[in-house]
Amino acid sequence: MRKKIIAGNWKMNKTLEEGKILASEVVNMAKDELRDDVQLVLCAPFVHLGSLQSMLADSTIALGAQNCSNHASGAYTGETSATMLKSIGVDYVILGHSERREYFGETDSLLAEKVDMALENGLLPIFCCGEPLDVREKDGQRAYVQQQIEESLFHLSAEDFGNVIIAYEPIWAIGTGKTASADQAQEMHAAIRKQITEQYGEEVANNTSILYGGSMKPGNAEELLACLDVDGGLIGGASLKSRDFVDIAKSY
Ligand code: PEP
Repeated sequence: MRKKIIAGNWKMNKTLEEGKILASEVVNMAKDELRDDVQLVLCAPFVHLGSLQSMLADSTIALGAQNCSNHASGAYTGETSATMLKSIGVDYVILGHSERREYFGETDSLLAEKVDMALENGLLPIFCCGEPLDVREKDGQRAYVQQQIEESLFHLSAEDFGNVIIAYEPIWAIGTGKTASADQAQEMHAAIRKQITEQYGEEVANNTSILYGGSMKPGNAEELLACLDVDGGLIGGASLKSRDFVDIAKSY
């Protein structure tokens, strides 16, 4: 059965000291308060990952990065490879976040290369997809997201696809305080699972975790996480406060 995952995307926030405090608060609260069938993941800035790895080593909380290079190694100044991430104990990597698509020009074909690089190195990609507001207003969200998934993921074998986590994040809901309604989220998640079924069959589709992202917080998490095809959340703003992040995970 598919995993329930609550992943925090810290984005470009927190100094090392602040990040360590946040992580240790999450570790302590999770130990006391959470059921062990919910996988927590902290996706921190690259420079913090090495320090956080040792803090999380004895916990059930996994470590994630927010990006990786599409290249294996070499003269790519400023880049970080999937091999490097794996070598310091990172397990997950967010790929294709809308901010990377919008501000850093990441395309579906570039993301296909990054997904390959992550999988080749044993990282679990959290692949983000989602439509902008103008597409939603024309009811084009299904076709838009289907194309993102097809172009970045459908070259994978069924076995490799089995290691991919999808995060449906409507761009109009990210960091805006606006959340998709439970019906809107369920509709999109069901459409994504149907698309996966058509490509890889029911077993793979039923085992794929599809997370919702977009202003999820303690006050709306229960309703969203109760949807049949919502298997967790990718949390931005609310992951920067340990109490909110753990409360979201407790909503299951
Ligand atoms: C995100 O950036 O992945 C996200 C979901 O952000 P927020 O929760 O702040 O909307």
